[in-house]
Amino acid sequence: MKSSTSLATALTPAHLRFLESLFPGEGLVTDPTQMAVYGADSSRRSAMPWAVVRPRTEEQVVELLTWAESERVPLVPRARGTGMSGGAVPAFGGVVVSSLWLNCVLDIDADDFCAEVEPGVVTAEFQALTQKQKLFYPPDPASLKISTLGGNVATCAGGMRAVKYGVTRDYVLGVRAVLPGGRIVNAGGRSHKNVVGLDLARLFVGSCGTLGIFTKLTLKLLPLPEGSATVLAAFPTLADALSGARGVFRAGILPTAMEFMDAKACWAVGQIKDVPWPKETQAVLVLKVDGSNASLAAELARLEVALAPAHPLCLFKGLGAQEEEPLWELRRLVSPAGFRLGPDKLGEDVAVPRGSTVQAVEGFQAMGAEQGVQVACYGHLGDGNIHVNIFYDASDADQRSRAQACKETVFRLTLSLGGTISGEHGTGITKGPYVSWQLGEEERALMAGIKNVFDPSGILNPGKGWS
Ligand SMILES: Cc1cc2nc3c(=O)[nH]c(=O)nc-3n(C[C@H](O)[C@H](O)[C@H](O)COP(=O)(O)OP(=O)(O)OC[C@H]3O[C@@H](n4cnc5c(N)ncnc54)[C@H](O)[C@@H]3O)c2cc1C
Repeated sequence: MKSSTSLATALTPAHLRFLESLFPGEGLVTDPTQMAVYGADSSRRSAMPWAVVRPRTEEQVVELLTWAESERVPLVPRARGTGMSGGAVPAFGGVVVSSLWLNCVLDIDADDFCAEVEPGVVTAEFQALTQKQKLFYPPDPASLKISTLGGNVATCAGGMRAVKYGVTRDYVLGVRAVLPGGRIVNAGGRSHKNVVGLDLARLFVGSCGTLGIFTKLTLKLLPLPEGSATVLAAFPTLADALSGARGVFRAGILPTAMEFMDAKACWAVGQIKDVPWPKETQAVLVLKVDGSNASLAAELARLEVALAPAHPLCLFKGLGAQEEEPLWELRRLVSPAGFRLGPDKLGEDVAVPRGSTVQAVEGFQAMGAEQGVQVACYGHLGDGNIHVNIFYDASDADQRSRAQACKETVFRLTLSLGGTISGEHGTGITKGPYVSWQLGEEERALMAGIKNVFDPSGILNPGKGWS
């Protein structure tokens, strides 16, 4: 046995022979051009894997983890690579383990209100299957057409519906995972309630591939709401928009989604699309409610009344998917339109306590002005989860350092308000250096201890922990 401090630094010819025998044919990728794709994710960070393996069965995963533990070979689990923080990037070396061929929906059960799936199933494809049985899997990261359930669980993905329905964590009933050494863990199960022992299933949620490789997930389902309706309202000030949002909650309405866009985000969308709001708009709210078709028109009327004291400049309503779609398209366009503000961006996803959102957004905007970079804020207002996008020109060293300084002041203000440096994207490698700004020594030591129990040699996704 090698010592726990000496992870392998490259694959030997014997290692490659082992991988060839375990992953015949296209199961093993060693061609650099193909491997490069598996070395990058949506954080725009990349590193060349030592090799890429694509298991088709749990047995292969067990053999791989048994071998990797005894040879101290680092493994980096990966799904679709849509992660925004470099969680699937083999930045510290290793073999990338793709879950794309572990992609079967094993069971959708309308009586148990649960489903069993392999981790590589694409989230939107799974949702479409559940809807056919009038069942509902609410987590809706904006990447749902291109990301997987396994990646969503490993990052605890959130989305617009989190304000009413919660995040991925709230829908994970069970996780089956393979640990280093080939140990199989079955945490949780199909029961919606379970208080026997520690909640190991939830411990895997948000673990970023550092504790084990998932091979099966048991997910909770809800009855599918009959329909939905949407309101888009524009406001003369950010404070008015945020007071409108407060008014909605105070009226006793819990929207399915409560999104906002600040003045820069609205301006950017207006550069690529005809927008319905007037020029003086400083912020836009987009709200969705769901329920029975009979009740939705009344819900829309309630929303309008609740928003009225905040003096919207204009208000548009959509009843049913066809009428709602053009309103939501405007919200979805923020991300691509943002590049009208600058060719490069640092995209942060801080979250603050709901009551601090005005102070946070005004502070972030002021920080952008101070550093001379463009800052657009938008996102999941209902959860206090604000996407702070800092636009700059990376080819200019001065702008690069000002953007970096702006990001750090954004983190400092967020933490001073009792918030978190990541509401949904995770820390990975891009925010790894800032974890100690948020987590104390005691908490980091506990997390390192837990990691050590699951992965004593540190072979799983090295460098992506929290210590
Ligand atoms: C356009 C766009 C919009 C986005 N919108 C949102 C959003 O609204 N909300 C949100 O939360 N995120 C969002 N994201 C980020 C991203 O989509 C999520 O983090 C997603 O959950 C990653 O899924 P993936 O399948 O691409 O996983 P990957 O990026 O491949 O991997 C993510 C993490 O999961 C681990 N992992 C993967 N498979 C396994 C496995 N089988 N076992 C153990 N660990 C594993 C990896 O090691 C890595 O740490 C967005 C990204 C993009 C590009």
